[in-house]
Amino acid sequence: MKKAVVLVSGGMDSAVVLAMAREQGFALHALSVSYGQRHTSELDAAQRVARALGAVEHKTVTVDLRAFGGSALTADIEVPDAGGPGIPVTYVPARNTIMLSLALGWAEVLGANDLFCGVNAVDYSGYPDCRPAFIEAFERLANLATKAGVEGAGIRVHAPLLRLGKADIVREGQRLGVDFAQTVSCYRADGDGRACGHCDACRLRAEGFAAAGIPDPTRYVP
Ligand code: ZN
Repeated sequence: MKKAVVLVSGGMDSAVVLAMAREQGFALHALSVSYGQRHTSELDAAQRVARALGAVEHKTVTVDLRAFGGSALTADIEVPDAGGPGIPVTYVPARNTIMLSLALGWAEVLGANDLFCGVNAVDYSGYPDCRPAFIEAFERLANLATKAGVEGAGIRVHAPLLRLGKADIVREGQRLGVDFAQTVSCYRADGDGRACGHCDACRLRAEGFAAAGIPDPTRYVP
């Protein structure tokens, strides 16, 4: 069975990616990164999701990006309500580069040639590392940077949600039997994984479920 390293955040997008990789016949090696995010309920969610979707193993690697700060997710900067122009303060500097690099390192050790991530360029918040050109560039880098790229079968970076809207992602997840109740999307979720209902992540998720005509099992803070 081919192995894949799948980045799992605990949110709905990466849960769907995990299910898609499983459908393609990969043995799932799920990777989460504890980077100092505001709450750990999404890491708890990542663990539940990985188990529910049959991951062979799930690792959580700690890289404390609070050492740098610079984001509302890793510093004492308030998460704003949805909206506003430009790249939002919830952008974590170089986060996807850092996470894909960790996934790449593990993949080489496992002998896996496939990385999966939930990057999405449609209903996204304007993050520069969620663009198709970023994924293509990282794949080139991965093949230059590794033994697998030089001597082996090469590395493929899969971002199957890249061009899907949020509603399509919800529908795909439902088709694949993803239990969305186990996922946490909110930037300001409380310790029990209950969502705020007002941040960008909450807005995108709610709009996606509404557009798909599927009930959203998100639990909100009363
Ligand atoms: Zn929220």
